[in-house]
Amino acid sequence: MHKKTVFRLFILMMLFGALIQPAAARESHQGGNPFFKAWTTPFRVPPFEKIKNSHFLPAFKEGIRREQIEIDAILASKAAPTFANTILPLDNSGIFLTELEAIFRSLLDAETNDELQRIAQQVEPLLAEHRDNITLNEKLFARVKAVYDQRDRLSLSTEERFQLELRYRHFIRNGALLDPKQKFKLREINQQLALLTLDFAKKVLAEDNRSRIVINNPADWIGLPPAVVAMGAETAKQLGLEDKWVYTVKVPSMTPFLQYSQKRELREQLHRLYFTRGDRDDELDNKENARRLANLRIVRARLLGYPSHADFVLEERMAKNPATVNAFLKQLWTPALKRAQNEAADLQSLIDKEKGNFQLASWDWWFYAEKLRQQKYAFDDTVLRPYFSLENIRQGIFTLCDKLWGLKFIPLKNMPVYHPEVEVYEAREADGRHLGVLYMDFHPRPGKRGGAWSGTLRDAYYQNGKRQAPISFLVCNFTRPTADAPALLSIDEVTTFFHEFGHSLRALLDDGRLRGRDGDIAWDIVELPSQIMENWALEPELLDLYARHYQTGQPIPTELVAKLKQAGLFNQGFETTEFLAAAILDMAWHSLTAVCDYDVRQFEKGVMEFIGLIPSIVSRYRTTYFKHIFSGGYSAGYYSYYWAGVLDKDAYEAFKEKGIFDKATAAAFRANILEKLGTEDPAELYRRFRGADPKIEPFLKSKGLIEE
Ligand SMILES: [Zn+2]
Repeated sequence: MHKKTVFRLFILMMLFGALIQPAAARESHQGGNPFFKAWTTPFRVPPFEKIKNSHFLPAFKEGIRREQIEIDAILASKAAPTFANTILPLDNSGIFLTELEAIFRSLLDAETNDELQRIAQQVEPLLAEHRDNITLNEKLFARVKAVYDQRDRLSLSTEERFQLELRYRHFIRNGALLDPKQKFKLREINQQLALLTLDFAKKVLAEDNRSRIVINNPADWIGLPPAVVAMGAETAKQLGLEDKWVYTVKVPSMTPFLQYSQKRELREQLHRLYFTRGDRDDELDNKENARRLANLRIVRARLLGYPSHADFVLEERMAKNPATVNAFLKQLWTPALKRAQNEAADLQSLIDKEKGNFQLASWDWWFYAEKLRQQKYAFDDTVLRPYFSLENIRQGIFTLCDKLWGLKFIPLKNMPVYHPEVEVYEAREADGRHLGVLYMDFHPRPGKRGGAWSGTLRDAYYQNGKRQAPISFLVCNFTRPTADAPALLSIDEVTTFFHEFGHSLRALLDDGRLRGRDGDIAWDIVELPSQIMENWALEPELLDLYARHYQTGQPIPTELVAKLKQAGLFNQGFETTEFLAAAILDMAWHSLTAVCDYDVRQFEKGVMEFIGLIPSIVSRYRTTYFKHIFSGGYSAGYYSYYWAGVLDKDAYEAFKEKGIFDKATAAAFRANILEKLGTEDPAELYRRFRGADPKIEPFLKSKGLIEE
C-alpha cells in the first residue's frame, strides 16, 4: 500500500477541482465521523477515543472513492505519460485509505470484537475489488508501460527507477501483458487456486481437530509433569470427556507429551497421527489438493512467462532465482545433517545405556533430547526471570538505541489510545528533532490475538517537501505483573521484545521519500532489522546495563549468562535439519516446470531420499499439511526464515568486529538498511552497508554447525 505526497494531490485538486468538490460536499453529511475531520491530536495520532465501529464502513467507501478519483485524474491527463504525471501520482494515491486500513487492521488484531470482525467481512471484498480495478485497468497500465519503456532515456534517480520497475512488474505479474483469452484463463486459474487453497487449509484444520490420543488410565501418565497432566485433563474437559486426558497433534500439546511421556507406544501413536495428517487416503486426504495446486501454479507461471512457480515468486525476492536458493539450502544441509547424525548417535547411546534395546525413532527424539538437555544444562527459568522485568528490558532497549544512534524515547501522557494499557512514546533524534511516535501494548487480554507483532498506523511520507512522521506500534502477549511482582519475562519474551522493537525502529527511521514501502520490501530481508536486535539482548555488555534483579538491583550472574548461551546450541542439528528438509521440499514442488500426474507420496519420498534425511527425523512439514506453502503465501519462500538469519548474523559481525556499540557501524546500518529498505535492490543496499555480500559462516556458527 502506498502513501501520498500531498503536494501531488494539491496539483490534482487544482486540475480536477470539479471532481473533488462533490467529495467535500458529501463529507459534510458524515457529521461525527472522525475519519472525515482533520485530526488535532498531538502528532496527528488517530483519535482512538472518538473512533466507533460504525465509522469504518462509510470511511472505507469514501477512501475507495477518493483513490478512484485520484486514479481517474491520472488517466484524464492529455499529456504524454511521464514519471511525474503518472508514477508519482500513482505512488501518492490512496493515502486516506492506507491510513484507515492500518488503523482498522491494528484494531482487528489487538482490540477486536464481533462487530469489527463482521465489518471486516464486508470490507475485504470491497478492497479486493478496488485493487483489481487498479491493477487490471488497461489504460493505467498503458501509461505505466509508456513510462517504463522510456526508462533508459529518463534521468531517474536510483530510487525512482526502482519504484518504476516495481510498479511495472506488479502489473505484468498480475497479467497485464496477456491477451483477453489468456487473461480469462489467468482469472480462472486464480479462482481455482483460491478454492483449492481454502480446501487444503480446511482439511488440515479438520485433521488437527480429530488427531488426538485419549488416556483413560492414570498409569499411562508416567513421566508427565503435573502441568502436562493438567493440560491433558483440560483438553479432555473441553471435549466433554470426563476423567480422561487428551493430547492433540497441536504443537503446545504434542511437544510436552513427546518430551516427557515414558510410554513409548503412546508417543509413537501421537507422533504418527501428527505426520500422517492429510495422508490417510480418506475424506481428509490432501494429496490431490497438493498435486493440483502444484500443477496449477506451473500453468500460471508459464502463462506469465516464467519457467516455474519458484522463478515467478523469487523474481521479487533478494534471492532472485531458484538456483541461488537451492545452492543456499545445499550449503546448509550438509553440516546440519552431519550434526543431526551426531545428535542421533548421542541419543542412541542414552537408549542403549538404559538397555532400551530399540533403534531411535522420530517419536523418541524429543524424549531423549529432553533427558540429555536436563543432564547437560539444567537451570531453572524461575532463577532467570527476576533479572528481566519488563521495565528493565524496555529501558535496556532504549539505552541500546541511545548508544547506537543517540535516539531518545520520551513517554507521552494522556494520548488517545485504543486500550488504557497501551503506552505511548515519542522518538527523538539526538539533536531533539521529532522522529515519530511509538505505541507499545504488552499483555494478553480477550480481543487480542496470540503472538507478537509490529506495524504502523502511519508510514513516513513527504508533504510539501517536509517529512510527515510515522507512527509505529508493537503488540505482544507477555507475562503480566502480579500483585507482588512486576512483569518478569522469560528469555523468549525478552528476545521477542528486542525483535519486535527492531521492526518498529525501521518504521520510525524510514525516510519515506517514495512510498510503496512495507508491502514492497523483499520478504527475505524484511526480518533483518528485527532479528539483528536479538543479538544484543544477551550480550554481557548490555545485560550489565539492564538485567538487574528487580528486588536487589544485582546484575545477572555471569555463569548464568554462559549457561544460557551454551544451551542455545543444544539440539540445533535436529532443528536445522527438520527445517531444511521442509524448505527443500517446498523448493522441489515449486521448481517443477511441467504439469504431471505426480504421486505425492512417492515424490516426497524421492526428495527425502535424495537429500539423505535420516529416518529418526521427519521433515518439519510434510506435503499434505504444509500450510505455509499450500495455503499460507510462503510457496517457494519457506527458505526465507534462514536467509534472513544469514543476513542478521553477518550484519551483526560488523558490530562485533568494531565493538557492539560502535557508532560508525550503527550509522552505516541506519543509512543503508533501516532508512532505505524497499527503495532499492536489497542486495545492493546490503553491500553498501557491509562492503561485501553476506557470508554464511556466522549463521553456521550460531547454529553450532561449525566451530567458533
Ligand atoms: Zn519479525
